[in-house]
Amino acid sequence: MSARVIDGKSFAAGLRARVATEVAAFKAATGVTPGLAVVLVGEDPASQVYVRNKGRETLAAGMASFEHRMAATTSQEQLLALIASLNTDDTVHGILVQLPLPKHIDEAAVLAAIDPAKDVDGFHVVNAGLLATGGQGLVPCTPLGCLMLLEDTLGDLSGLEAVVIGRSNIVGKPMAQLLLGKSCTVTIAHSRTRDLPSVVRRADIVVAAVGRPEMVKADWIKPGATVIDVGINRVPADEPGKTRLVGDVAYGEVSRVAGAVTPVPGGVGPMTIACLLLNTLTAAQARHG
Ligand code: NDP
Repeated sequence: MSARVIDGKSFAAGLRARVATEVAAFKAATGVTPGLAVVLVGEDPASQVYVRNKGRETLAAGMASFEHRMAATTSQEQLLALIASLNTDDTVHGILVQLPLPKHIDEAAVLAAIDPAKDVDGFHVVNAGLLATGGQGLVPCTPLGCLMLLEDTLGDLSGLEAVVIGRSNIVGKPMAQLLLGKSCTVTIAHSRTRDLPSVVRRADIVVAAVGRPEMVKADWIKPGATVIDVGINRVPADEPGKTRLVGDVAYGEVSRVAGAVTPVPGGVGPMTIACLLLNTLTAAQARHG
């Protein structure tokens, strides 16, 4: 039997449409247009594409988009000065600093400078702390999107065994916190985990956020489990000189064992921007009642 394909692209389109409807209602009620400021330092080609897409989707949802492009030679002080001005700008409800930053800039210092109420990436320690303690903060977009797909697929997650592979601050850890918040029994696996396949085989829910092409194999998966593939890996394609995207999950073989699985592309990826729009709206609503 073949696993159900979890269609993140279509779910994300629905979510973006719902956000756009709520943005219109919010504007009508308050006269305020939610605004997202995206800051890009340097010329990293992948980051440029992400920033362009974020700007386009922000406008499409009826929100204001402010793009700040700074040279790779920008000093940390200059970047912190921009963030300080965005923190006090009433037209800006969300601030996103595109990562990675150039090596000479301290990423932690920059993230810490963002007003937590405008931290739509959810990376500030205040928001990470709120998530860990069950408070109401802004939640990182990618794990939030994964949780939505899981609840849409499985309904109530309470009591399920979840294994998150990866412990980064932007995906693995917040994902584990969200699943714990839904009363899953959560295991976080990482590069030092012993016998990873047998740990993963316990899981009703597997979230792979590793960055290793097609690492998770079919014989790691409990039959019928739900598999969320966060990985985005570029590998050589059959055609010489071309590349293609694959996830952290060996999709073809895992599809024959899992109950449901996200494809790459078209699974988790589109959810990330949709959740960014949602977080921007949430931040604007929090500010203006
Ligand atoms: P990081 O590199 O920050 O973290 C990777 C994690 O995987 C680490 O915790 C690492 O363990 C663990 N790991 C590495 N190798 C192994 C292994 N052999 N076995 C078990 N665990 C291992 O990556 P991110 O969390 O930032 O991203 C993960 C993936 O998700 C990447 O492919 C990235 O491109 C993608 N991504 C996709 C997004 C989307 O929108 N769809 C958004 C963000 C990321 P340790 O801590 O021990 O080193």
